[in-house]
Amino acid sequence: EEILRLEGVRKSYNVGRPNETEVLHGIDLTLERGEFVALIGPSGSGKSTLLNIIGLLDRPTAGNLLIHGVETSRMSDAELTRLRGRTIGFVFQYHLLISAFTALENVMIPLVADRTFPSREIEARARALLGEVGLAAFANSLATNLSGGQQQRVAVARSLAMKPDLVLADEPTGNLDTKSADDVFALLRRENREHGTSFLLVTHNMHLASQCDRTIQVVDGRIAP
Ligand code: ADP
Ligand code: ADP
Repeated sequence: EEILRLEGVRKSYNVGRPNETEVLHGIDLTLERGEFVALIGPSGSGKSTLLNIIGLLDRPTAGNLLIHGVETSRMSDAELTRLRGRTIGFVFQYHLLISAFTALENVMIPLVADRTFPSREIEARARALLGEVGLAAFANSLATNLSGGQQQRVAVARSLAMKPDLVLADEPTGNLDTKSADDVFALLRRENREHGTSFLLVTHNMHLASQCDRTIQVVDGRIAP
């Protein structure tokens, strides 16, 4: 089952200005349900740009992006936001937790923001997710008091709150020590195995990339053959 397809996707920045530059030069890519894929490539090659487009945070300048076979180019920003909330989870290198919130409150954010998720089930679901990432005992700890690895596990729990089909993870282990990085990676792998969630993982860690199902390499705005 196809989750995502890119057809000839191009992206330029500063369109119409003297400094207009194309940074993605025609990307073709498909992702199936349950795939666990590493996205690698040198700094500046276009990985973050590609991730922003796949995550419906930015639009291609040309080409098609289909989610579950449906073209997205004519969708309004509001439609894209709704589709993103239902389909895609995000984990970033700097976890972007709200430090004055507890672990539990951080995981509750997407469930509260969705507005359609039954409010009386929000806390129970957030607690279950914290349990899945091994942090049930830290539900009431302020995010700021958790270790880097624990904070990233809270971010993983939060990314899974809406049961996304696809999680985009931009160097999720980039600022963790080896042990914490392996733990977070194992968590993503387990989620992939148990729920069939697809992952696209930007990483410079070749040890982790080699444990993915497939590696996509971006070089100068193109996918290397
Ligand atoms: P990577 O994630 O692989 O490091 P990026 O997608 O961040 O690559 O960047 C690809 C190219 O696009 C780089 O040359 C970068 O300078 C340029 N770029 C990224 N974001 C912008 C932006 N908002 N405006 C202009 N150029 C950008
Ligand atoms: P049920 O299958 O009984 O309807 P759920 O679908 O909520 O219940 O899943 C049962 C457990 O698995 C819950 O703890 C839930 O948090 C977790 N879970 C289900 N789907 C996902 C998912 N895609 N990602 C993360 N956790 C999930």
